[in-house]
Amino acid sequence: MARYTGPVCKLCRREGEKLFLKGERCFLQKCAFERRSYAPGEHGRSSQGRSDRESDYGRQLRAKQRARRVYGILERQFRRYFGVAIKTRGLTGLNLLRTLELRLDNVVYRMGFAENRSQARQMVSHGHFLVNDRRTDVPSMLLRPGDKIAVREGSRSKPLFKELPDFAEKRNCALWLDRDLKNLSGRVLRLPERAEIDGTLNEQLIVEYYSR
Ligand code: SF4
Repeated sequence: MARYTGPVCKLCRREGEKLFLKGERCFLQKCAFERRSYAPGEHGRSSQGRSDRESDYGRQLRAKQRARRVYGILERQFRRYFGVAIKTRGLTGLNLLRTLELRLDNVVYRMGFAENRSQARQMVSHGHFLVNDRRTDVPSMLLRPGDKIAVREGSRSKPLFKELPDFAEKRNCALWLDRDLKNLSGRVLRLPERAEIDGTLNEQLIVEYYSR
């Protein structure tokens, strides 16, 4: 599945806020947004402050782009997720966010096994994970409550995974997931509640964007 391969800090600057796409570096002074908090490009500085005059369409577009960038998903895939969310019973916006949260790469990240979603995606696509005891290399695979994930036996001797229990111990695991650091595995306990998903995402505006 295709993915964005350009400079990620530009995405934060474009959205006008920190999206925390890199991990540790995002909390340091090295963060590009701390040094240049205006949009990238020739007119970046001069467009500062224009968000007050943004149209409804502009706000809807920004909300959609922001969510896409946080989860690292391209437009076509994101629109497909929206199509699934509409057909699922319940609130479309919440369905969409739950679908994004249940992607395998996001679950690996939420369990604290990776510094950011991009690293989680790479770990999955290199075939280091099993889902329900079967090897997979598809980061976009959607998990369901009850599904188990684990680091593959053959990958555990690699330096990255030897250090993983210590690394993950310092990171929180989402409450809707369970993890076993000793065995480098975990399970989806239930669907995430809205309060357990990034509160800065505005799913209502995303629904409005696609319902125009
Ligand atoms: Fe965004 Fe992190 Fe880059 Fe800062 S370091 S601009 S928060 S991705």
